[in-house]
Amino acid sequence: MRCQAYTADGDRCQNKAREGLNYCGKHRYSPEPPQCMAETQDGDQCQNRALEDSNYCGKHQ
Ligand SMILES: [Zn+2]
Ligand SMILES: [Zn+2]
Repeated sequence: MRCQAYTADGDRCQNKAREGLNYCGKHRYSPEPPQCMAETQDGDQCQNRALEDSNYCGKHQ
């Protein structure tokens, strides 16, 4: 499984996640917020990051 964190450039971290975790050793303690759960009008998932303590970005919540 790939690390679920994002780099500062917005790309998905290329490291392998630690076993039983969603993040690599580097991102384990400071994971980025998850992606917004909203769908665009095209049916794609919103590419914005979700706000802290929310499943949606500022635009969709
Ligand atoms: Zn990582
Ligand atoms: Zn959104």
